[in-house]
Amino acid sequence: MPLGMVILGRQGSGKGTQAVKIAESLGVIHISTGDMLRAAFAEGTELGLEAKSIMDAGDLVPDTVINGIVEERLLKDDVKQGGFLLDGFPRTVGQAEALLSYAENDLCLALNLDVSIDEVMTRMLARGRDDDTAEAITRRLELYETETAPLLSWFTERGILKVVDGNGTETEVFGRLMEVIEEILGK
Ligand code: AMP
Repeated sequence: MPLGMVILGRQGSGKGTQAVKIAESLGVIHISTGDMLRAAFAEGTELGLEAKSIMDAGDLVPDTVINGIVEERLLKDDVKQGGFLLDGFPRTVGQAEALLSYAENDLCLALNLDVSIDEVMTRMLARGRDDDTAEAITRRLELYETETAPLLSWFTERGILKVVDGNGTETEVFGRLMEVIEEILGK
């Protein structure tokens, strides 16, 4: 059965970087909804153009839109065969419920990369991405608390949440993540 995982964490927690490393190490497909939206914008699709202003403001693309994109991606052969690691999705309970309806049997682990608000602020201001204005960062952190943080108890109730300390070097954090993953896979 393919392996399905999600990685949660505040924007700037390092989850994108770690997700790439984990996916490479396990041979699963890394699916970043932020990357997909940025690619859509770069290609000039209608979706990309619509999403751009939402992203620049630090707001969330509507669930119906993002759920459709993820469902379509999960149906592709590479994911069906290799499994997936979702990064940046789900961000709301509505998205988590949709994910469960697409991939309940494959979903075995939700990792939460835990980094404090102060630390992610510092990291995001340093990375200097297009949508990393002070206003957008504040808005994204606000939405994380109201929309995404409830997912921690949602995944806990389903028995698949593991919290990993995201402070320290990239290598240290990767080691901690892999330890948790290997423990789950070994079960
Ligand atoms: P990220 O690269 O994950 O930080 O995402 C960048 C931006 O894309 C976010 O600030 C949102 O505007 C949008 N986005 C990415 N993933 C989602 C999602 N699952 N739900 C809604 N909006 C999203």
